[in-house]
Amino acid sequence: MRLRHIKGAEQAIASNRFVVQDAMGQKGRWREVFSEDHPIHIEVGMGKGRFIMDMAQEHPDINYIGIEMYSSVLLRAVQKMEERELDNLRFILMDAAMIAEVFEKGEVEKLYLNFSDPWPKDRHAKRRLPSHQFLERFGKILPDGGIIEFKTDNRGLFDFALEEVEEGGFELLEHTFDLHNNEEMMVGNIMTEYEEKFSSMGNPICKYIIRKKHE
Ligand code: SAM
Repeated sequence: MRLRHIKGAEQAIASNRFVVQDAMGQKGRWREVFSEDHPIHIEVGMGKGRFIMDMAQEHPDINYIGIEMYSSVLLRAVQKMEERELDNLRFILMDAAMIAEVFEKGEVEKLYLNFSDPWPKDRHAKRRLPSHQFLERFGKILPDGGIIEFKTDNRGLFDFALEEVEEGGFELLEHTFDLHNNEEMMVGNIMTEYEEKFSSMGNPICKYIIRKKHE
C-alpha cells in the first residue's frame, strides 16, 4: 500500500506517543514499553492498522506492535489511535528487513503477515515478506515453536509462500485456499482492510499457520 505522500507525515509520526521512536534502542526491553507484562505479537506490513487495532481491542492480554515502512500509511493508523487509545498497542516505522536489529530472539511470540505485497517479478522474490529470506529474519526474533500466520488473496504469492516454509526454517501446521469457507480456521478471524475489500469482490482468501522449527 502506497498512499500519496502526506506533507508533514514524518514530523507527525516522530512526535507521536503511540510510535516507538528509537526501536533499535529498545531491543531486549520491549516488555517495558507496555504497562502490562504480556506476550508480544506483531504484524509486519500493517498498512492502516485495522487488523492490529481490532486484535488489540479483542485481546487485552496480548501486547501488539504494528510495523509499517511508509510514514503516510502509518499516519492513518496513528490518527485512528487518537480516537481508540489502546494501551496494548504500539507502532514502529521501519523496513522489516531490519527486524533482527530491533527484537531479541524470543522477544516476539507470534507474527502476522496480511496481504503482503506480491512483488511479481522473479528478481524481486526476496522482497516478498513470506520469502525464505524474510522467514529466516523472523526466525531470529521468535522462540522455537513461535508462530507465523499469513493471509492473502493472491494465489501465486500463496503458492510461492508454501514453497518457502521449509527453507525458511519453519514447518507447515495448517493451510487453506478458502479461509472464509473453512469453519475451523475461521474461528476468531479478524478481517484486515485488504481482506474485506478482496473477499467482498469474491476472491477466496488463502491462509497458512507455520511454526518455527527447533534449532
Ligand atoms: N496488512 C494490511 C491489510 O491486510 O490490509 C495492509 C496490506 S498492504 C498490501 C501491505 C503493507 O505492507 C503496505 O502498507 C506496505 O507498505 C507494507 N510493507 C511492505 N513491505 C514492508 C517491509 N519490508 N517492512 C514494513 N512494511 C512493509
